[in-house]
Amino acid sequence: MAIRKIHEVGDPCLTKVCRPVTEFNDRLHELLDDMADTLEEAGGVGLAAPQVGILRRVCIVEDEQGEIIELINPEIIVETAGEQVGAEGCLSVPGKYGIVTRPMVVRVRAQDRYGTEFEVEDEELTARCFCHEIEHLDGHLFVEHIDHFLTDEELKEYLEDEE
Ligand code: ZN
Repeated sequence: MAIRKIHEVGDPCLTKVCRPVTEFNDRLHELLDDMADTLEEAGGVGLAAPQVGILRRVCIVEDEQGEIIELINPEIIVETAGEQVGAEGCLSVPGKYGIVTRPMVVRVRAQDRYGTEFEVEDEELTARCFCHEIEHLDGHLFVEHIDHFLTDEELKEYLEDEE
């Protein structure tokens, strides 16, 4: 297990369409373990493989119970129950936040680290995170959805509203 370097906006690896995972081997497991360490160290709630320079369809999301959900070759299959509007940031865009509208509930179909298919559904922050991380796998960043980066005052207002 090791901490990997998080690539930041401007790095070409963040704009590439990632390839599907076909081999569920030790190398994948090492990547997933390293990504969990890297996420914990960085203090985020989600991380996608291209953020650590690996152009494969792999991402992890920490849910509100603090469990890490590993998503290999994930696909959003249902977005339901309205929208949520909130401040969003990214470990590859350090210190910057913007307002992004996302579906309130998201259902994802993916494979686990052994290749077994499963579905997971979550809401609010975790649903936001599913959308954000899966977008990374197609080379997209949340900044494409925002009008502007929040000022410190705007961010403070948003964080206060959420508490
Ligand atoms: Zn991100």
